[in-house]
Amino acid sequence: MNPLVRYEVQDGIAVITIDNPPVNALSPGVPEGLAESVASANADDSVKAIVVIGAGRTFIAGADIKELEFAAWGQPAKLPALHELLAAIEDSPKPVVMALHGTTFGGGLEVAMSGHYRVASRSGAMGQPEVNLGIIPGAEGTQRLPRLVGVEKAIEMCVTGKPITAPDALACGLIDSITDGDLLKAAKAFARDAGAPVKTRARNGKLGSPDANAPLYANGRALAAKVRRGALAPLKAVEAIEAAVALPFAEGCKRERELFAECVASDQARALIHVFFAERGVAKIPGVGKDTPVRPLERVAIIGAGTMGGGIAMACANAGISVLLRDTEQAAIDRGIETIRKNYDVSVKRGRFTPEGVAERMARIHPQLDYAGFDSADAIIEAAFENMAIKKQIFAEIDAIASPACILGTNTSTLSIDEIASVTKRPESVVGLHFFSPANVMRLVEIVRGKATSNEVLASAMAFAKKLNKVGVVAGNCPGFIGNRMMFPYMYAAQFLVEEGATPEQVDKALTNFGMAMGIFAVDDMAGIDVAWRVRKELGHDVPKPGERKPMVQDRLFEMGRYGQKTGRGWYLYGDDRKPSPDPEVTALIRKMAADANIPQRTFTDSEIIERTIYALINEGARILEEGYALRAADIDTIYINGYGFPARLGGPMMFADQTGLAKIAASVTPPAPLLARLAAEGKTFREYDQEHA
Ligand code: NAD
Repeated sequence: MNPLVRYEVQDGIAVITIDNPPVNALSPGVPEGLAESVASANADDSVKAIVVIGAGRTFIAGADIKELEFAAWGQPAKLPALHELLAAIEDSPKPVVMALHGTTFGGGLEVAMSGHYRVASRSGAMGQPEVNLGIIPGAEGTQRLPRLVGVEKAIEMCVTGKPITAPDALACGLIDSITDGDLLKAAKAFARDAGAPVKTRARNGKLGSPDANAPLYANGRALAAKVRRGALAPLKAVEAIEAAVALPFAEGCKRERELFAECVASDQARALIHVFFAERGVAKIPGVGKDTPVRPLERVAIIGAGTMGGGIAMACANAGISVLLRDTEQAAIDRGIETIRKNYDVSVKRGRFTPEGVAERMARIHPQLDYAGFDSADAIIEAAFENMAIKKQIFAEIDAIASPACILGTNTSTLSIDEIASVTKRPESVVGLHFFSPANVMRLVEIVRGKATSNEVLASAMAFAKKLNKVGVVAGNCPGFIGNRMMFPYMYAAQFLVEEGATPEQVDKALTNFGMAMGIFAVDDMAGIDVAWRVRKELGHDVPKPGERKPMVQDRLFEMGRYGQKTGRGWYLYGDDRKPSPDPEVTALIRKMAADANIPQRTFTDSEIIERTIYALINEGARILEEGYALRAADIDTIYINGYGFPARLGGPMMFADQTGLAKIAASVTPPAPLLARLAAEGKTFREYDQEHA
């Protein structure tokens, strides 16, 4: 008996149940069990048809990603060789009906497509999300999918990696029937009436011809460039689907295997698989066990109805949490609620929410001028101005009214959590909840642990982030925490480059070509040059240490009232469309200041720009890691991908450093962080550092 796959005969139908919790992954044992069960069914004369179904909450949700990780790093991996299994299922003389519920993804969908028919629960979803891991479907998915759904749809699914719903799957031919009732019963009924098996690999009617499909392939490549700029796997997926059309099935499968092997061995697959595990690894906090009690978070109160308070209110309302939203002035409240409504209107226009869904969300947000009801909040989140005196006053006030179990969070981006907590009688309840703008969209929350923050509060804050469908990453309490602290040397390096002869637009272009969502100067203009100036003052960064070089231009822009997007002028000029265009006045200013300071001028290549800027970012990451403000290098990667627009296909700054070679990075930053220098000298990587410190 295979413990992962059950076999029984019910009313002349062989029912094969995959039971490999939690998601019936194709771990070793599952393919073998499936093959044996199909053979048993075909050997039993009393069996008329076969149904394959998943136990628990889903059909097969995909391959075992741990095994993929081994393969990507060139270690021995037990990746299932599914070819023979899929052929055996497809060649079964008795009809095989795949009963799909939950998430039929990746290898799961590939198995499902080898069956003759598919019946699904209405709530089910199907997809080929392999591109998220830098690979393509490797078990004939690129060959069977276009035969079922046509080339255009297959390309769309494999390039975007996005799942489709059961009704969509029915419409495009991926499945044959939907049930609202009992799935097994429906699948058995379908199997009984199914008639002779039809092999998927023999269904060539939707494939078309290479010539006629040429525009579809071109569109597929354009889609890949748009949704996954610079990514290798989506292009390979298109290539594999082209092979499905151009070649006989067996040869197409061979071509798919070659392309799959190319992808698995790529830096991008290693990086993206790293990103997958990094995001799941953030929940492991040394000293905070799984059994740490987590407080319920049903009622949240927010202080400050500005950019961040409003966004956090939306994030809560979207997650079904009711919100009290306090500001000190009616005008601020009105503005805040108006902004929330406008943002929701955009979501309705884009089809993300229905008008009713928005009405429900708006009804969860209660604007007010006082602290009424704050005494029954499970968490209070302060999102007022970035000013220590104001924050201290607010925390003293809420300390007097909050219930004993209430979590006291601050959205400060740079100020000391310990100092804020010091004005309360319960510093153990105070934690940083650093959301990113726009807070209803950005997935990252830095959870800042003060020296007194209790394990229970930390674990509850992590659970809160999860409830909001966000990624919480623990950061220590240093100025700027993890993400913003790394931004300082990054921004300084960018400014030194322009002082030495580059232009802001050249630096930004190099960064976006590298894969950053935005260039650093465009980011500075968006966040506000005035905001950055205040932060530098607050942190004492405006006073240079002896021998330290400080950038000059940003302060001058501040003095000129060029605050960025909000004033229409910053590093760039902004028209009504808020699109940046280079400003000759800024270029002239930079050249003049550089000449006055006798800074020699030269030109820079894009790769020099990346080395100066991104390497500076990495160097600071290494310091943060060594000082213990980040638990893992992988946490830094998760922060930069989810909060700062770092390209996932490069794995985050620390993984990018690993793949570039730490020796190269250490040699080009001055001075290298001690940890970076040490790892470089030992020939090690940040990934190995994480593994040694796990
Ligand atoms: P904002 O100026 O848009 O909003 C602040 C709001 O707080 C205003 O509406 C103001 O009236 C209100 N307020 C001030 N004092 C108050 C008090 N005592 N009681 C109630 N309300 C009060 O500012 P913001 O951009 O939303 O920033 C809020 C906080 O979030 C700051 O600490 C900031 O550093 C942090 N933060 C901002 C961003 C960002 O990109 N804007 C990102 C992360 C964190």
